[in-house]
Amino acid sequence: MRHDHLLSAGQLTRGDIEAVLDRAADLADDPGAVGERHADRLLALCFFEPSTRTKMSFDTAMKRLGGDTVDMGPVESSSVKKGESLADTVRVIEGYADGIVLRHPSEGAAKLASQFVDVPVVNAGDGAGQHPSQTLLDLYTMRERAGLDDLTVGIMGDLKYGRTVHSLASALTNFDARMHFISPESLRLPHGVQFDLHDAGARLREHTDLDDVLSELDVLYVTRIQRERFPDENEYQQVAGEYQIDAGTLERARDDLTVMHPLPRVDEIAPDVDATDHAAYFAQAHNGVPVRMALLDELLGGDAATDGGAGR
Ligand code: ASP
Repeated sequence: MRHDHLLSAGQLTRGDIEAVLDRAADLADDPGAVGERHADRLLALCFFEPSTRTKMSFDTAMKRLGGDTVDMGPVESSSVKKGESLADTVRVIEGYADGIVLRHPSEGAAKLASQFVDVPVVNAGDGAGQHPSQTLLDLYTMRERAGLDDLTVGIMGDLKYGRTVHSLASALTNFDARMHFISPESLRLPHGVQFDLHDAGARLREHTDLDDVLSELDVLYVTRIQRERFPDENEYQQVAGEYQIDAGTLERARDDLTVMHPLPRVDEIAPDVDATDHAAYFAQAHNGVPVRMALLDELLGGDAATDGGAGR
């Protein structure tokens, strides 16, 4: 992968993705395989929005690589509260660290940040935009469970505001997956995302009813309705709880259906699914560590010839 930053899934070729997933598989087997080269490296964690998995797995990944992290901490206790711009914040932080993982409520924030710094920036979620490192661990999980060739994937829930959906759909075009998007009318994929998918030759169909396609699916990727992104709470209440699955729903699915979810779940997947062979979402979250180790190893650079903040 020859990129300075990871900003959106659209920048990743099939070759890029496979290289990270292969490396992640190696690191999952042997975390020490990277040797000492990250020992003096620091990764800055800048989260302007809540996070459990993304932040903790980047933190764990960096430490497992032998490096360390510095955390901007909660926005409330940072100088952002005093009115500092994102550009100034990241310009300062690049002096402290070899890479920046950024989550921000504004779409395009990571791209903007990347224009002000020389160290690699990873977009860890920019509003309803993109979440490409999540996509890498999603694909890793799909590859482990179902392989990435000839896949039929259902993506259900909040397709409008769900950034993991936008990134995943974009990356799946590299594998020529058949994609079924299942959502209420008001949470359909945004036109811009659909346009890009069509442009990339995606095979996609939209549905309002899961039962239209459930029996065809290899993977069902369930998402949370992104309550925090609704301009109006009433709009959220109209769709809340509409798309839920339980063990009974899955009786109508293939035995080998894999159910995934980027988490956190609210009520989209009933707890009775957890004990079934379909459930992959906790393993999926755990895969975040080896996948982010592989990604950081690549972006931070193993030697002077690699892009990014190597040698800082
Ligand atoms: N954790 C994922 C994200 O940050 C999914 C979600 O919040 O629903 O986008």
